[in-house]
Amino acid sequence: MSDALREGDSKGDPQATPQAAPRDACAVSAAPQASPQAAPQASPSPVNVDAWLAIDRYEVDEEQAHIVLAADPAHEEFAKLVRLCPAALYRFNEEGRPSFDYAGCLECGSCRIACGDTIIQQWRYPAASKGVQYRFG
Ligand code: SF4
Repeated sequence: MSDALREGDSKGDPQATPQAAPRDACAVSAAPQASPQAAPQASPSPVNVDAWLAIDRYEVDEEQAHIVLAADPAHEEFAKLVRLCPAALYRFNEEGRPSFDYAGCLECGSCRIACGDTIIQQWRYPAASKGVQYRFG
């Protein structure tokens, strides 16, 4: 058998030693591979609203409130706002009396939509350069 034939035979031999892979190929194969048997990721943690709100900045207009409520708001109407305001600015204090502070308002307009015809006497955007400044991390 000629040397050429032996060489050809060894290439087809499954027991033959594989040649070294190019360096770039090694770098790629060193990267983590996704395995179909990998354990599922833990469910994401719940959204921490307070942490997200703390990222935002507020320039509170101390001179003029952009939201004004009726002097003695109806309990049921106010309770709606306690439930819906994403910034939790509507609250019942320890004596059960309604409490509201427009500082920290996200200007979403939800309270206006819910109670603009009842206990919200005025809703407008804050003056220029005042109000919320959103930051997205
Ligand atoms: S506009 Fe939105 S964030 Fe501001 S007080 Fe109303 S519901 Fe709350």
